[in-house]
Amino acid sequence: MQLNINESYSKELPADKMIENSRRQVYDACFSYVTPKKTSNPEVLHVSEEMLLELGIDRKEAKTSYFKEIVTGNRLLKGTHPYAMCYGGHQFGNWAGQLGDGRAINLTEVVHQNKRWAIQLKGAGETPYSRSADGLAVLRSSIREYLCSEAMEHLNVPTTRALSISLTGDKVMRDIMYNGNPAYEKGAIVCRVAPSFIRFGNFELLAARNNLVALRQLSDHTIKHFFPEITASGKSKYLDFISKVRDKTIEMLVHWQRVGFVHGVMNTDNMSILGLTIDYGPYGWLEGYDKAWTPNTTDAQHKRYRFGNQPFIGLWNLYKLANALYPLIHEVKPIQEILDTYDSIFEKKSLEMMRSKLGLLVPKKNDIELIGRLEETLELTETDMTIFFRKLGTITKKDTIPVAFDKIKPAFYSLSELQNEIKVYWNDWLSSYLDRIQEESKSDVFRKKAMHAVNPKYVLRNYMAQLAIDKANKGNYTLLEELAILLKNPYEEQPEKEYWFVKRPEWARHKIGCSMLSCSS
Ligand code: AMP
Ligand code: MG
Repeated sequence: MQLNINESYSKELPADKMIENSRRQVYDACFSYVTPKKTSNPEVLHVSEEMLLELGIDRKEAKTSYFKEIVTGNRLLKGTHPYAMCYGGHQFGNWAGQLGDGRAINLTEVVHQNKRWAIQLKGAGETPYSRSADGLAVLRSSIREYLCSEAMEHLNVPTTRALSISLTGDKVMRDIMYNGNPAYEKGAIVCRVAPSFIRFGNFELLAARNNLVALRQLSDHTIKHFFPEITASGKSKYLDFISKVRDKTIEMLVHWQRVGFVHGVMNTDNMSILGLTIDYGPYGWLEGYDKAWTPNTTDAQHKRYRFGNQPFIGLWNLYKLANALYPLIHEVKPIQEILDTYDSIFEKKSLEMMRSKLGLLVPKKNDIELIGRLEETLELTETDMTIFFRKLGTITKKDTIPVAFDKIKPAFYSLSELQNEIKVYWNDWLSSYLDRIQEESKSDVFRKKAMHAVNPKYVLRNYMAQLAIDKANKGNYTLLEELAILLKNPYEEQPEKEYWFVKRPEWARHKIGCSMLSCSS
């Protein structure tokens, strides 16, 4: 494999001086050198062809045992120096101190076609940051990360990527619902890839420990490689940095709201400084449109990370980042101004996004009211978000209300609930919508095409991932393959795959892994 190795993080930033791989507090360092654990019987289950191309790896090479040994940690690429990152974070609103890569090991960085990629193994064994856990990952959570991160890329949502998913051949003990029922599961490793895996928490930990030299080094490193457009110096440089991270965070969150993605654990250690969706744990996809929904059972009580709260949490997390960067700026006012504009930028972007979902191509003043009313109406009875917006695109200017209603009907979970008051709301809304699209100058065909480009037909519904997991646990990877292919073209009609364009089946409503997920992974 002729990878163009070009390491920057470990070269430019301070390393942990201790090389012993023991669990501990690591001071005065941005990372610790570690070696992935040897796996007993590795087997590559799936490889992302798009990612092979991005990295400049030949398809044939991906079939070799050399590739397998690399992506499962049994062998190191020549001239590379694997390490685990040191970071902290706010978890569920509270400062948690040092966290770090407890089970992620960065193999190296490569530059291909002028793009920098950090390559990381998730589940490759202990690091100084493993705290009380084992540094491993199971097949179940690895399939969820592998399929979803690549699916997000094809949905045009900023995300970390995945090159491969492999079995390790080793068994891993997990208590899935944390209820005293531990059992062995198959161990697995996802080889993740991103321009960088730096998180808000990397900055927070250095600031909390008052290590301002390293804080400046890390900020300069991040700006130099990932925000080259920032040319200011002194304080302004770091202020521009906060503004850029604000914008990238907003962009990512607006995309999540567009496709109905709920991350589930938006702790600051899970916030990419590049505004990429990162750390696919107990995430989920909205089926019934419900702003109060979160799939994460660990968050069931307060629902801090529910769908409708994600925009607010983005700002909350940016406050933590800004606090961490304060020592490089020493002025509250300009930082406050950057954060104060978050809401107005978010609202503007969100409105543009919702207009595009509704096919309102020429903005009108009353659109805000129409959109707000739709969001309320969608919650009156369980209504499938993906199916609703996809079907909405098929409504034409000459449709009557009953015809339009028939088109969106497949989105409702219980038609019997669509009577009396709820039906009146829907008729009212459809009537307003039909009036509104008369004001659009473009044709129905044009509008439908534009809407279908932002309203996906296929998303990785929670039960779909679970079906693939159940099969894979029995050694059958056909569904993993099928979903990987399906989700490469989420906006295209795939008539032979229409059976995935359906509401969540009833059996999945309360099944573990389909509607409820814990952080166990
Ligand atoms: P998460 O909630 O998955 O983002 O993880 C929070 C912290 O726990 C991070 O520092 C992870 O590296 C660490 N962690 C999660 N699972 C494991 C594991 N199995 N072994 C070691 N560390 C883990
Ligand atoms: Mg994490």
